[in-house]
Amino acid sequence: MRLVLLGAPGAGKGTQAKLLAEKFKMPHISTGDMFRAAASADTPIGKEAQTFMQAGALVPDNVVIGLVQERLAKEDAKTGFLLDGFPRTVIQANALDEMLRTAGQKLDAVVSIDVSEQDLIERLSSRRTCRKCGAIYNIVFESQKPKAEGVCDRCGGELYQRSDEMPAVIKERLRVYNKNTAPLVDYYRGKGLLRPVVASNSMTPQDVFAAVLKALGA
Ligand code: AMP
Repeated sequence: MRLVLLGAPGAGKGTQAKLLAEKFKMPHISTGDMFRAAASADTPIGKEAQTFMQAGALVPDNVVIGLVQERLAKEDAKTGFLLDGFPRTVIQANALDEMLRTAGQKLDAVVSIDVSEQDLIERLSSRRTCRKCGAIYNIVFESQKPKAEGVCDRCGGELYQRSDEMPAVIKERLRVYNKNTAPLVDYYRGKGLLRPVVASNSMTPQDVFAAVLKALGA
């Protein structure tokens, strides 16, 4: 299966992507995770990306497209993949179409997770991420709190607040999303691929996952 997950920052794409990748045994390709890993490893791409990420801006299209092209060419992505956080602009979506066309492949569906702006801000500012394994927690919602404050349940790693999840940067990321990425909803609706899922803060990640599976007819 070849899937794209669309949604504003804080919509829960990362969490749903992990659940989907596990269920359908496909690689979870998150450009945000790739950039964060490159930044931690201090590679040239990481250094370039970090400047944009810290400002809540998008990394330039040519950098992202090159990265995804390399990743999709790997063996594990030949039979299926789940893209999380890519494409984020119409230029990236066109580039993805072209990559797939060249490889004789097609997307099966684009799941968009729709959450109100108020819920997004509340979620993002209370989100904590594990430095070691990337697991995501939320310090406000009971079902998503870590068992011990500041410590990852899974691997014992330290939980931290991403610098791009501070209030001022969140506002900028939402502005950038509305301007550049929201048009992709229409882009994929026009291709008959869009599977919208409405989510809110009163739903658990499992509730949202059930809705995602239903939207996919799985
Ligand atoms: P995410 O973890 O998906 O929220 O991504 C974190 C940050 O990485 C974004 O705010 C952007 O700065 C950068 N980024 C990730 N994916 C892309 C993309 N497809 N295009 C441009 N920038 C991206």
